[in-house]
Amino acid sequence: MPELPEVETVRRSLTDLVLHKEIKAVEIFKPAILALGDEAAYAGLVGYELAEIGRRGKYLLFKLNEPADLLWVVHLRMTGKLLYHQQPEPLQKHDHARLQFADGSELVYNDTRAFGRFWLTQDAAQVSGLNSLGLEPLDAEFSAAYWQEKIKRRPKTQVKVALLDQTVVAGLGNIYADEVLFQAGVHPERPLGTLTDEENQRLAQAMREILQASIEQRGTTFRDYVDGNNQKGGYQEFLRVFQKLNQPCPNCGQQIQRIKVAGRSSYFCPHCQLK
Ligand SMILES: [Zn+2]
Repeated sequence: MPELPEVETVRRSLTDLVLHKEIKAVEIFKPAILALGDEAAYAGLVGYELAEIGRRGKYLLFKLNEPADLLWVVHLRMTGKLLYHQQPEPLQKHDHARLQFADGSELVYNDTRAFGRFWLTQDAAQVSGLNSLGLEPLDAEFSAAYWQEKIKRRPKTQVKVALLDQTVVAGLGNIYADEVLFQAGVHPERPLGTLTDEENQRLAQAMREILQASIEQRGTTFRDYVDGNNQKGGYQEFLRVFQKLNQPCPNCGQQIQRIKVAGRSSYFCPHCQLK
């Protein structure tokens, strides 16, 4: 499942590939992916270009050039991919949308599970979940103080639940939440109210360091994730606990364990992350 580093890598790869190309045709093969804006609205993109590609949390924000004044927002969810082709290619199974550009290249949206969503709007506030996102760990304003302010009214919530809550901090998913907790030496089930200032500082620092390191490796690929150039990420080589059940902890050698926290598999070291 793409998390912040993977979505950021897609953004960077597509910025190099599709920016300022004139859109010649837009085809929607599976209207169920359209959360806002129907097929007719997408036809209105013809003749415009993608002027800017931004990202907020796990949302990709494609800004159309003037006078379109439109934002095309994509959330890849579980298995969505935006794939660039220099030349037109035959459609593949699970290709749900295609943008063709005037220079003959194309951008195809492929999504095996089809949980991904598109929004086409003039107003970002119309995109469900976008306006309620918390700060991202790599935002300049993010700090341990911000994190502590966000969690102070929820002393009984488990720390892993808060890390996954996009309204608290945007961009972390199951993989990076486990890696952050390991680096900070915090058990995933710890109630927020029991965390010390020092632990909160370690958590905030780990969020920044791990996301930064993963972006530098162009994200993590387990099964599906690739960037706009069909390239896999490299951070899976650097994971220390995620999906390492019964393997030795890189710090102390004890076996990594797995528990369910809020329905999600959570990997941790029972010696380095005491409850
Ligand atoms: Zn350990």
